[in-house]
Amino acid sequence: MKEVRRNIWFIAAVFITLFVVLVVSLVYNTAIYGGRWVNSPYNPRLREQRALVTPGDILDRNGVTLATTDDQGNRIYNGRKAVRKAYCHVVGDAYGFCPTGAETFHASTLLGYNADILSQIRQVLLQEPVRGNDLTLTIDVELQTLAASQLGSQKGAIALINYKTGEILALASTPGFDPSAIEGAESIADFSSEDAVLINRATQGRYVPGSIFKVVTAIAALERAGISTTWEFACTGSIEVDGGVVTCSGVHGKVNLVEAFAQSCNTAFAALGLEVGGANMAAAAEKAGFNEDFMFQDLTLYSSRYEMNAYSDDYDLAWSAIGQSTDTVTPLHMAMLAGAVANGGIAKEPRLVVRSDTVTGFLRSTMTDQRYMSTATAQTIQEMMLETVASGTGKKAAVAGYEVAGKTGTAEVGGSKSPHAWFIGYVADSDHPLAIAVVVENGGGGGSVAAPIASAVFAEAIQSGY
Ligand SMILES: [Zn+2]
Repeated sequence: MKEVRRNIWFIAAVFITLFVVLVVSLVYNTAIYGGRWVNSPYNPRLREQRALVTPGDILDRNGVTLATTDDQGNRIYNGRKAVRKAYCHVVGDAYGFCPTGAETFHASTLLGYNADILSQIRQVLLQEPVRGNDLTLTIDVELQTLAASQLGSQKGAIALINYKTGEILALASTPGFDPSAIEGAESIADFSSEDAVLINRATQGRYVPGSIFKVVTAIAALERAGISTTWEFACTGSIEVDGGVVTCSGVHGKVNLVEAFAQSCNTAFAALGLEVGGANMAAAAEKAGFNEDFMFQDLTLYSSRYEMNAYSDDYDLAWSAIGQSTDTVTPLHMAMLAGAVANGGIAKEPRLVVRSDTVTGFLRSTMTDQRYMSTATAQTIQEMMLETVASGTGKKAAVAGYEVAGKTGTAEVGGSKSPHAWFIGYVADSDHPLAIAVVVENGGGGGSVAAPIASAVFAEAIQSGY
């Protein structure tokens, strides 16, 4: 009898424990990710809510108003069209055409309000107008506008982050749209078009990385194949792999790992990828956030893809090691990767919202940092990226008076189209913890087109005290 009673107590304890775990995880997930479930632009409750509640304002990190509502209930954006177009993808629009924008993604904040229960009852009884909470973003609208102007009429994206905190200072995507003139503009909501203006290319653009991927190949070599910076290769301008040929941009002669990286030697890195092997390449890429379904609290970020494995054929593997084949990346993830190199291997979760002091604010402030590489590997990659800007293909990313580190990319996209121009890098100064990714679609050479844009954005950010 005693035994039976003990068993009953034991089973009861197990059920109570399971129940508590279930409740805690439900509360936690609702607090952390709940916004995703309610914020769909197709959610009819959200639309009804918009009719009853005046949404809060959206502000930049310095308190500049990006979106507000006038007395007639119209949503009003910045007075200057160039500024509106520069921040359109980050802020979004009142109709949810651009569903990744804060207007939609953070609707639960903008339409929710903190009034106590008595005030809420009074508001319902007296039919007082209800106003949602304001939302302060981490972007600096001046930097955001400068970044978009650097891309100009070209298609592309720029992600500028603080690599110590993960705060996004600028997230530009061109072409943009005017959120003030979007009403009834269903025709522009064609996400499949190459010219689609509603896509945030910084977070949703999946690009061929080209040579910026050599950062990952170098990580794999250092961390998983016992290769050091004294590794050497003799570049003759091309290398035969599996009956095919991988060509280089020049004839670099005998290069060590640092020189091969700084000069962006394709043949050396193709050979390196083969030596490292598909399984190690995949493991290093996945540790650095590839193939991961990002679930960030503040924004949607599409995943970067690396598809090689232990069974990939050598030809594909060699091209994948120099960022071609089936490799694809998103610009914000590449800024996180550059930031992780600068930050001793740790990538911070990207943040778009300055936290408020609400009850859930406590839960929302838990950031998930990820180690993309070991501290020792990060230090060696830093050396390689510094050399790239000091003497290699990234010279035009330099900023007078500061040390800049980086990697260029000139990603072949096939056909007769010009390659995508890439630069990823960071400012090597702990007072200015800035990391960047720049991509200009069909822009040409990374060193000549993307690196100078990074330099201009870095210089302005430093000037502004970031
Ligand atoms: Zn070469």
